[in-house]
Amino acid sequence: MNPTLIAPPALVRRAEQHDTKAIQALDSAHYLHPFTSHGDLAGVGARVITRADNIYVWDSEGAKILDAMSGLWCVNAGYGRKELADAAYQQMMTLPFYNSFFNTTNVPAVQLAAKLASLAPVVGGRKFEHVFFSSSGSESNDTNVRMVRRYWDLLGQPQRKVIISRHNAYHGSTMAGASLGGMSGMHAQGDLPIPNITHIEQPHHWDNALPGESHADFGRRAAGWLEEKILEVGPEKVAAFIAEPVQGAGGVIIPPETYWPEIQRIVDQYGILLISDEVICAFGRLGHWFAYQKFGYRPDLITFAKGVTSGYIPLGGVMVGDRVAKVLIEQGGEFNHGYTYSGHPVACAVALANLELMEREDLPGRVKNDIGPYLAERFAELSDHPLVGAAETCGFVAGLVLVKDKGTREMFDPALSVGMICRGHCFRSGLIMRAVGDRMIIAPPLVMTREQIDEMMGLIVKCLDATLDDLR
Ligand code: PLP
Repeated sequence: MNPTLIAPPALVRRAEQHDTKAIQALDSAHYLHPFTSHGDLAGVGARVITRADNIYVWDSEGAKILDAMSGLWCVNAGYGRKELADAAYQQMMTLPFYNSFFNTTNVPAVQLAAKLASLAPVVGGRKFEHVFFSSSGSESNDTNVRMVRRYWDLLGQPQRKVIISRHNAYHGSTMAGASLGGMSGMHAQGDLPIPNITHIEQPHHWDNALPGESHADFGRRAAGWLEEKILEVGPEKVAAFIAEPVQGAGGVIIPPETYWPEIQRIVDQYGILLISDEVICAFGRLGHWFAYQKFGYRPDLITFAKGVTSGYIPLGGVMVGDRVAKVLIEQGGEFNHGYTYSGHPVACAVALANLELMEREDLPGRVKNDIGPYLAERFAELSDHPLVGAAETCGFVAGLVLVKDKGTREMFDPALSVGMICRGHCFRSGLIMRAVGDRMIIAPPLVMTREQIDEMMGLIVKCLDATLDDLR
């Protein structure tokens, strides 16, 4: 008999009692994971996460783990929020699905679009009154590419096709998303990037500043790379610039304060659209509903996903500023683009419940005025650790660089995989922290208390010490 047919009932006997080996065997036999080297997994077995509450997850062996990554940067409201489950249940019983194609709509999608519009502040006269829904950040960025091209076509400038992005950016995994992204490993597979997408260097002071260059000077110079690229491509051919406010998956790269104002000056000067990919940074992560508020720039399109539902159910979308919306609506006729699950009623109902919860508990305000500054204070202490070359935070994301020599900023030989050694210690010590090369990064749930920040910092120091011991 096919073992897969009899296996499932045996896998989960009671909430706390799992047959880990059996789950891992089935996993390895059938489940192709995203971003996973299956060769490395063979014989080891994937860690099986079985339940979660607040800021903790548990694995199938009963180990309790502090999730300092909010799943994948998404569980902003923390785990176990019953009202989100209730919202999904109620909506499923009322209207589990209906589409928004062909002049049809549904109540949660309308309410959510209006709610999001009310949360996006007007900047420099630019308003966000319209929202296009998808199910993910990747789909949303594909939507951006189509929307941007459609916009310029409608304005009689079809030659404006080129979108400028940045190396080491992450904008998703679809063909357009991975092309917009600047991950060399992704470009190496599947003939990416697709045409008309080009990249500039990232505003990463640690990697790209000249010796002795201040953050402020570097920020202006890094923004200047955009202008150089526009001139190289030809200003009349450039459609848009896309960037994450703070690069997340690239390793929590926080731009100097001078970066965004100069980017704004450049996109204004050349009239190109600005896309703010806030899939990670929106919904309280940087202490505001939207991250452009923090840096004070004026995007035309905002990509969102993840935190809009706190990851409880897939939902993404694009906040469409008036500049683009007006042209699409007044001149565009039918926009031949959409997903079956655009405006999915259950996903929208969960998002509404999540945003109401975040508003009631003022999670953006907590990050801005309470736990964000406290995390910054505690993280700064890590700079004294012999392994740490730099420790930086922005709202509720943080990153630290592991270095061989603090004085000279010499990095470790990449072959040593020091970041992975540290990540292994985190796993074994009950902490989820991510390694990007030798940068260790976190993005904890926004419900974290000061006591829990202390608990997390204790674990981080323990894992740094253990990593240092391994290297001696
Ligand atoms: N954009 C950014 C900035 C992201 O961080 C991500 C995912 O991490 C995406 C887009 C892609 O989102 P998704 O994985 O929902 O497709």
